[in-house]
Amino acid sequence: MKFTLPKLNFTFDALEPNIDAQTVETHYTKHHQGYMDNFQILVDKYPELKNLTAEKILTDLEKLNINNIDRTKLKNMGGGYLNHNIYWSNLNPNNTKDKNLIKKINRDFGSIKKFKEQFTQLATTLFGSGWVWLVEKSDGKLDIYQLPNQDSPLTLGHKPILALDVWEHAYYLKYKNKRIDYINAWWNLIKLI
Ligand code: MN
Repeated sequence: MKFTLPKLNFTFDALEPNIDAQTVETHYTKHHQGYMDNFQILVDKYPELKNLTAEKILTDLEKLNINNIDRTKLKNMGGGYLNHNIYWSNLNPNNTKDKNLIKKINRDFGSIKKFKEQFTQLATTLFGSGWVWLVEKSDGKLDIYQLPNQDSPLTLGHKPILALDVWEHAYYLKYKNKRIDYINAWWNLIKLI
């Protein structure tokens, strides 16, 4: 499988002033690209992985017949690749409200406001590098949680819906230590709900 970076449907400066152009460009062309390149190198080492999608590799990570050092690398690099794919797709300025998602959020969190408060709380309190996720579980229920590093909800058997990257590289150029300002700016860009 030859992996590719998803093309952004927007220019690097399209998320200004919420996320600055330099951060978007560096995040996409250096960080995201780097995860993908390293993931590709690892996958190419194993003929049995060569026909699998990135999603399948992350979903079946614990079952793959590979050494544990490479399993950890696949988790980090494959997660880094797929997590950022979701991050950018969530931020597409052309997104519109997803009525079905709104309905499910109201059902499982009580209201959009309560959902946003809980999600923001998780994003604010995540210690170290990681992501906050809105996922759908196999029973159809939504859940939110923190995951460290580049861990993927796919490995837990959950379908990722919303992804907030709270690694410092996602905001530090503009927001420095003020993570909460980045989180609030990120919400401004989420058009799905
Ligand atoms: Mn990132």
